[in-house]
Amino acid sequence: MGKLIKEQDDKGRLHIDTPLLGESLVSKEFLKTTESGEYFRMHPDINVLKIGGQSIMDRGAKAILPIVDELIRLKDEYKLLLMTGGGTRARHVYNIGVDLGMPTGVLSKLGDKVSSQNAVMLSVLLAKHGGVRIGHGDHLEQLTMFCKQGHLPITTGIPPYGFFEHPAEFGSIPPHRTDCGAFLLAENIGAKSLIYLKDETGLYGADPKKAEDKDKLEFYDKISVDELIELDLDDLIIERPILTMLKNAKCLKELQVIDALRHPEKIQDALEGKHVGTIIHK
Ligand code: ADP
Ligand code: MG
Repeated sequence: MGKLIKEQDDKGRLHIDTPLLGESLVSKEFLKTTESGEYFRMHPDINVLKIGGQSIMDRGAKAILPIVDELIRLKDEYKLLLMTGGGTRARHVYNIGVDLGMPTGVLSKLGDKVSSQNAVMLSVLLAKHGGVRIGHGDHLEQLTMFCKQGHLPITTGIPPYGFFEHPAEFGSIPPHRTDCGAFLLAENIGAKSLIYLKDETGLYGADPKKAEDKDKLEFYDKISVDELIELDLDDLIIERPILTMLKNAKCLKELQVIDALRHPEKIQDALEGKHVGTIIHK
């Protein structure tokens, strides 16, 4: 860090003689020179937990309350940011949009409200324990402060692409949904860890819910992102763009997917750095 800014002149004035001057900021060779040896991390003690929409929230009280109890117990020991998924209601609105031939960005705009609803729901449940719902604006610089004050910040997992969502490689469902949002935020705040709370032990060779015999499926308890890209599995337990994002990540080195539905106690294990689900690493 800190090698790009030139000295001021003898009157103390800064003349803007930037090495970026005249660059298109497209050249691969040039862009490599902007790589930092060590990236600045804004919230290095924050653990980002993404609470699944379909896999957790949609299952109601019996799934949500044991997890909420764990989070209340853990919030004083660990700094946590909760990010919410969408789930079935988002799928329903996507389906209507697909039926109408809506493009990806319109579907993104339609689906984002559901993750916000789940953030409201979680913040209501956690309100008397210090749960505080925040947006994607000014409050994100204050995450560590919130946690130090005993709060438990909660935000929507959906990244703010909306009408600017990238066209999908296949079909029209927005490729960057709440798993991606949690990844992007964790990466850019320099979070300590990123944990996905879902309803399966981790990553299998195929969707275990669609398999005839789950026990016959390959289970990947730890896999590098390069190997996973190479495997080119048809279906994944996290959104596919995360693979490329992790490959290019500057701060995050890994993420873990855990079965918090059957094993809420795994949340603490994962926060302690224990390997209790699938770890996908650089
Ligand atoms: P969330 O609720 O966090 O958005 P999703 O329901 O979108 O989670 O994704 C998790 C689901 O992905 C799992 O419940 C599982 O049924 C499915 N899945 C698809 N492919 C795989 C795979 N290769 N390994 C494990 N689970 C998979
Ligand atoms: Mg999902």
